[in-house]
Amino acid sequence: MADLVSSLLNDNLVALKPYESARRLFSGGQDWLNANESPYANTYNIDSSRFNRYPSCQPQSVVSAYAAYAGVDDNQVITTRGADEGIELLIRTFCTPGQDNILICPPTYGMYAISAQTCDVGVKKVPLRDDFTLDVEAVCATSDVNLVFICAPNNPTGTTVNSAQLTQIIDRFADSALVVVDEAYIEFDKQYSWADKLSQYPNLVILRTLSKAFALAGLRCGFTLAHPHVVESLMKVIAPYPIPEPVAQIAEQALSLEGQTKVGQQVDFINHEKKQLAAALADLPTIELVGDTRANFVLFRTPHCAELMEYLVSHGMLIRDQSKQVNLHNCLRATVGSETQNKRLISLITEFFNQSGASA
Ligand SMILES: *Cc1c(COP(=O)(O)O)cnc(C)c1O
Repeated sequence: MADLVSSLLNDNLVALKPYESARRLFSGGQDWLNANESPYANTYNIDSSRFNRYPSCQPQSVVSAYAAYAGVDDNQVITTRGADEGIELLIRTFCTPGQDNILICPPTYGMYAISAQTCDVGVKKVPLRDDFTLDVEAVCATSDVNLVFICAPNNPTGTTVNSAQLTQIIDRFADSALVVVDEAYIEFDKQYSWADKLSQYPNLVILRTLSKAFALAGLRCGFTLAHPHVVESLMKVIAPYPIPEPVAQIAEQALSLEGQTKVGQQVDFINHEKKQLAAALADLPTIELVGDTRANFVLFRTPHCAELMEYLVSHGMLIRDQSKQVNLHNCLRATVGSETQNKRLISLITEFFNQSGASA
């Protein structure tokens, strides 16, 4: 059987390692500050009276509610099984396997490259500069790409992109590629959204999700905002029923005015906690903050990265090791959690330095 499987396995999958999601890496633990989830679990109502019917492919109530929330037209929105499905749909729709390429700017979100590889699409990399700004000249000098992925705020550096630079990139690829701006964390840095520029730039695509600020990672609901022609093309490829009925019901409630108000308050609280957490970390021995804090996490470097990570894991405090990413040697990323969790994180790190004497 193993021989059969390996003889049939697609060539492009032989070397591929599955995405190491936070959930796959650690299943135990008590404090999950490793997946940029919200510390809030809000409650919703479910009406099962339509569960015997297939759901609509694009539930109109959800599409309209998101369009209104994002300030775009209904025909500029497609909803998917998380933003991750949006990434994969874009690649499957606009890149021919074995032939086309995407462009990414590492260190960045891992799923762009993984989705491309599973589709046998090439990945061209233009690393961010040392200060985590885009290397615009190098991006613009890259040819033969169909999709350019730019994450802003970027995971895991927490940095955003300069608007003049992004405009330059969108213009450069106006006739040759879609520029996909991943705004998974935009609620934490609202004024920088590109949603209001969609109508101006037909090759601009924006990814959004309910997984982060909306506190619904378990729902699996995301949105791709784009020119209606791009949306129509994605509709050719999307599964017939990507949004289960309970997901549509919950998404609609989350996007109600009441839901949006709640998210606004939770974002304010998380942003407030983030400042405290960043300040407390910066005060600890050997720790240096890295990047920026425009999302719901903080990134920091310490020469004792591996031992600290091990210490935290052994105490059920899970954060994310980013040290294998380009330019992020010795870096750890901690999601901003509840006040109690953030305090516990700081006291565990303080304890680690006190015990190990690793303060030099
Ligand atoms: C979490 C995350 C996503 C995935 O969002 P889902 O909607 O949960 O699939 C996409 N992009 C970035 C940058 C993320 O951090």
